[in-house]
Amino acid sequence: MALIACPDCGKEVSSNAPACPGCGSPIATGASVAQRGDIIPYSDQEVAVMLSRKKKTSHLLHLFLTIITLGLWVVVWVIVAASNGSQNSAIDKRINNGKRLR
Ligand SMILES: [Zn+2]
Repeated sequence: MALIACPDCGKEVSSNAPACPGCGSPIATGASVAQRGDIIPYSDQEVAVMLSRKKKTSHLLHLFLTIITLGLWVVVWVIVAASNGSQNSAIDKRINNGKRLR
């Protein structure tokens, strides 16, 4: 049995107690208590921030530039699309893996 701080009022509560005797807030026990080094999922807000860093390749713009440069731009198009794709999959990977508590 360990004493943990109530997440709501900060009072010390037994980790075996179902709820804080002071304020009635439910106490997360055992495996559900995140500890230093645990992998926990990102919050919705953090996921939204990461998703906003994803890059979309503007294929219409690149198609237009490819036409006016007689196909020369296609190299840039491929590089940009590959770079955006790898950044986007790195973001997906981070979101799926969760974060390690420090
Ligand atoms: Zn409490």
